[in-house]
This record gives sequence, structure tokens and C-alpha cells, in this order.
Amino acid sequence: MKTTENNFSKKNIGDMPVEEFRNFGHQLIDWVADYFQNIESYPVLPNINPGDIKSKLPKTPPVDGESMEEILKDIDGKIMPGITHWNHPNFMAYFNSTSSGPGILAELLSAAFNANGMLWKTSPAATELEEVTLDWFRQMLGLSENFWGIIYDTASVSSMHAIAAAREQLSEYQFRQKGLAGRKEIPRLKIYTSEQAHSSIEKGAITLGIGIDGIRKIPVDNEFRMIPSQLEKAITEDRENGWLPFCVVATVGTTSTTSIDPVNEIADICKREKLWLHVDAAHAGVAAIIPEMRFIIDGIEKADSLVVNPHKWMFTPVDLSILYTRKPKILKQAFSLVPEYLKTSEDNIVINYMDYGIQLGRRFRSLKLWFIIRYFGTEGIANRIKDHLRLGKIFAEWIGQNTNFEKMAPVPFSTICFRAHPQDLNDEQKLNELNEQLMNSVNSTGKIFLTHTKLNGKFVCRLVISGLRTEEKHVMLAQEILQNKLTEILT
Ligand SMILES: *Cc1c(COP(=O)(O)O)cnc(C)c1O
Repeated sequence: MKTTENNFSKKNIGDMPVEEFRNFGHQLIDWVADYFQNIESYPVLPNINPGDIKSKLPKTPPVDGESMEEILKDIDGKIMPGITHWNHPNFMAYFNSTSSGPGILAELLSAAFNANGMLWKTSPAATELEEVTLDWFRQMLGLSENFWGIIYDTASVSSMHAIAAAREQLSEYQFRQKGLAGRKEIPRLKIYTSEQAHSSIEKGAITLGIGIDGIRKIPVDNEFRMIPSQLEKAITEDRENGWLPFCVVATVGTTSTTSIDPVNEIADICKREKLWLHVDAAHAGVAAIIPEMRFIIDGIEKADSLVVNPHKWMFTPVDLSILYTRKPKILKQAFSLVPEYLKTSEDNIVINYMDYGIQLGRRFRSLKLWFIIRYFGTEGIANRIKDHLRLGKIFAEWIGQNTNFEKMAPVPFSTICFRAHPQDLNDEQKLNELNEQLMNSVNSTGKIFLTHTKLNGKFVCRLVISGLRTEEKHVMLAQEILQNKLTEILT
């Protein structure tokens, strides 16, 4: 391809000329449309080795600007071979995160405005749209008006802020002013969560000076749910031993099996013990949009905070996580610190989101949530999630009926934990090896991507259906590949 000279390098100041932007903007949108049209022709997982991508890229930056043709050519030639295709309908690993047309278009606009929503004044629309979309989403989840929301990048960061607010609630200890270290007069703090909780809770504890020893993992029942009586026992025991319990994190949709902690019962314990209850519903929370599924957050009105990630199961390009709390004043008390140059005359009548977290600058993330809710509608979103639940049921039933496979956990949503278990094979070690081999050989086809977990020491394959482009035929393909690969391994 003949390369045109880059106007930018000629002038050496200023942005890309508007006409050039228009031209490549159109080309790139066409490229993205083609990408979606042909997404199934790509392997879900790239077949490359560590360092392959780096080795194709120059070690030093270009001195003279390059043409957009050259840059875009390298997307196809050098970047695409190293992309794991999260938008592929057979991406069934981890918790999927798929983007959507309206979400991508909104991201484009968001970059164009480049509005930094740290204060109301620094972009009133960014602040007010965040308030409006989070209030819409609150209604979609069936939460009361007592919940106030804020967007952060990820659930890890949302939960960290919730734990910080929980700590701030112990105001008599003045943690904000005096910190934690070296203070003999204060007891060690303790957080409770289940054995199945996400690692982000521990990372929050690490960050906030509570430490990993400040986390107590409560045992789960045979369906991987926190046992409330064990929680109660642990709190009593710790108080007796001089700890200061202050926070409980319940999970709705745990990472391994999507089990649902009994929020209602846990909330009653928290109320009695005066502990902050944070609910981590990062992946599964959006299912509460479906009225029949609202039971999953039963008792939520007694919780202090809740995290839900539209960037997981609601077709929102990463990243967008929402923290709702009934106590925004405490969150603000924990983080508000306004230097002179950020004071505005509207401070008393508006929300300045910078007051509610550690970051100052904030992307205009609510724009993509607004586009997505408006474009699909609340019913459109609910129908898509409902369809994933239907497909999950189909796969779970197939596992249940297949004598070579077994289901390893209940399936409250559309994440299925299963393993191959041929009738004549009962050695656990061998079963673990067989299933690891099965998963790797299924993934090596490039047609599907699954991941695993361990449950009670057993290697378990995990298949998640939450992609916007996943249809019944893709679930059938997954079944066919699993069956064929297992036969291949066993013969
Ligand atoms: C995915 C997940 C997280 C972490 O989400 P990030 O947004 O990647 O930080 C935390 N908790 C649960 C239950 C999750 O499913």
C-alpha cells in the first residue's frame, strides 16, 4: 500500500488535521464493523508465545510521525495476532465482558470530549449524567432511593472504597487523621468474608493497612454459601480475643461457582453487631434487573454498600463499576480533601465526585452506560440476560444427562462448574489430570475458551455464558468440542 505523508510531521505542531481524522475515523468504524461481522473467524485465544508481540515491535519510538495507514496496518499485522477475543461468542472463560455497538460509540465520544469530571464545574454534564444514569440503574435493580451511586473503574476499587468507608465509620478512632500504624491504643481491625470471596477483598485490606491477617474467611456450606452461624461465632471469638470487627463482605455470585451468600441473614447479624455490610455482586448483580431474579439481593436494603459491574454482564466496554451506598456522607468524610484551587462557588449545591474517592481526575464513563440503557432499553437488557440464563440451563442439563460428565456446583445463573468423570475412573488425582488435559485441549482448538477453578481440591472446568453475541448454536458447539475432545483423550 502506498503511504501518504503524515501532515502532522510536516507541521510539527497541532493535532491531526480534521479532514484526515474524518477519513480515518470512517475507515476505522468500517474496520470495527468488519471485525464484528467476522469475529467467529478468529481463534478465541491467540496461539502465540510470551514475547512474540514485543519482538515484532520497534525497540525505540519513531522520531518522525508515521502515517495512519502504517499504524493501522500494524493493527492487523502485529496486534491482532495477540488479541484474546473477549467479544467472541465462544469466549466462555472467567466472567465474560463483552462490548456493544452503543458502548463503543459512546467511548469514542467520551474520548472526543475528554471531559474530566472531577468537579461539577469541570464538566456539569459528566456529573449530572452520572447522577441520572446511576439513579436509572438503581431503579432497574429495584433498590430504594436510600442508595446513592458512584462510578469507579473496577469492582476491586469499588470494594476498597466500601471498606475504607466502613473503617471511617469507626470515627472515634480517627483513622483518617492518625492512621493505623504504631497506635497501641487501638485494637486490630477485622473484616469477614467467605472462603469463596473474591481476592479483591484481601487486596482492599492490604491497601488499607488492615492486612491479610485482618481478614477472616468464614466457611461455606455444601453449596458454597457463607454459613451465617459461623460468621456469628467468628465475630464473638474475635471480640473475645481483642480484635475490632468492623466490616462483613457478602458475595452475590462468587467467582468460582456464582454461589449466593444469604445476604438477609448476614445483614441481621451485621445490624446486631454494628458492622458495615458490603455486598460484592460484581458479576451477578445485573441479573437482579429481571424481576424473577431479584431474590438474589434479598435483604439488600439492610446492607451499607453494594458493588455491581456493568462492564461484566451488561455489554459495557471495560471499565465501569458502580458502588451504591446508603452512607455517602461517610464515604465523603473518608475521602474529601479540597485544596484551594479546586474550590468552586457551587460546592454546597452540587456533587463533586472527587470528594468520594482517592482519584481526582475521572473519565466520562456514565456516557456509555447511558447509551447502553437507552439503546437496549431496560427490557432489552433483561431479555438478553434472561437468554443467557436459558442457555446456561441447556448446558447444565446436558452435563447432567451425560454419563461422562458431572456437575460440580449448583447453577443459580449461567456459570456451570463441571468435570469429566468417566464411570470407571475414581482416582481423584487422575480425574484432576484428565480435566486439566481436557480443558487445555478444548482451548487449543481456538474455537472456544474455558477456564477452571478448584473446588474442595478438585479440578473443575467452568463455562460462563454472558456474552452479548452468544447464541444456542455456540453452546451446542461447546458441547460438541467437549465431547469429542474427551473421547479423543480416552481412546
Ligand atoms: C470480577 C469480580 C471482581 C473483580 O472485578 P474487577 O472489576 O475486575 O476488579 C470482584 N468480585 C467479584 C465477585 C467478581 O466477580
